[in-house]
Amino acid sequence: ATPTSVMVGTGKGAENGILIKSAESLETAQKLNTIVLDKTGTLTEGKPQVTDYVTTFGTSNQNELKLLRLVALLEQQSEHPLAEAVVDYAKSQQVQFNGIVEDFNAITGSGVQGTVSDRVVRVGTARWFNELGIKTETLAEKANQWEAAGKTVIWIAVDHELEGIMALADTLKPSSVDAVKALRTLGLEVVMMTGDNEKTAASIAQQVGIPRVMSQVRPEQKAEQIVSLQQEGKQVAMVGDGINDAPALAQADIGIAIGTGTDIAITTSDITLISGDLQGVITAIELSRATMTNIR
Ligand code: ADP
Ligand code: MG
Repeated sequence: ATPTSVMVGTGKGAENGILIKSAESLETAQKLNTIVLDKTGTLTEGKPQVTDYVTTFGTSNQNELKLLRLVALLEQQSEHPLAEAVVDYAKSQQVQFNGIVEDFNAITGSGVQGTVSDRVVRVGTARWFNELGIKTETLAEKANQWEAAGKTVIWIAVDHELEGIMALADTLKPSSVDAVKALRTLGLEVVMMTGDNEKTAASIAQQVGIPRVMSQVRPEQKAEQIVSLQQEGKQVAMVGDGINDAPALAQADIGIAIGTGTDIAITTSDITLISGDLQGVITAIELSRATMTNIR
């Protein structure tokens, strides 16, 4: 690549809010044939909100609020976006945040646990509860309905007994559907990757028009998933925003960070989309293709 054309390319990127770290990134970007998109915070706004809450002991019960208090006390200790949504919801229900959480533990990709007034409280995935031998059948049908609608369900247990579930919805970014369509038109295979469960992931993927989904991917497995695509012979770009995404961004042939995401994602990436608009991915690939065509 001639230095001048690369400078023009990166300059045009910058004008469009796309920061390209090196000449090499610009060259590699035109070889891409696969693009992996993180779900939460990349395709969606990443600001989930609680939409539903049911307990095993029925509705309109004072006990519902008591359980919500335990859940909120625990989630107050967590930095997960879902946790923030739960705390906001509890505040909106006038829950009193009095109480002490002991032995707090956040299990990445699974949930949180802690002890409040000698009771062990857990909030997390059905898979985690199944691993622990906590039965989830009584609320499975309700959870299925919520997940089919694209909501994330979090499960609540006290002392090894299921006591409730909560649904959280996150909205798609307005640009996501068009961006996915444009990427596919450019001839790229589009894949969605998420730690979320299979049903929720499938529903969101369908809404946004993505045919291939990798769901229930634990944070430490995200980079391995990129390797497996590379072993299929693919040239892979990964787009993500979170701490969890950083190893996958580093592993990908091109890592693309959402500018509104975490610092570590931005540092590990080759390209940063300042506004977080996925349209920037298309612009970057087009720029790269145009730059390289000029050189040849
Ligand atoms: P993502 O890739 O969507 O950001 P994570 O790997 O962070 O997902 O989490 C996977 C799943 O683990 C979440 O969808 C949620 O069900 C559960 N989980 C993680 N942290 C928490 C938490 N603080 N409270 C409740 N559930 C959680
Ligand atoms: Mg994310």
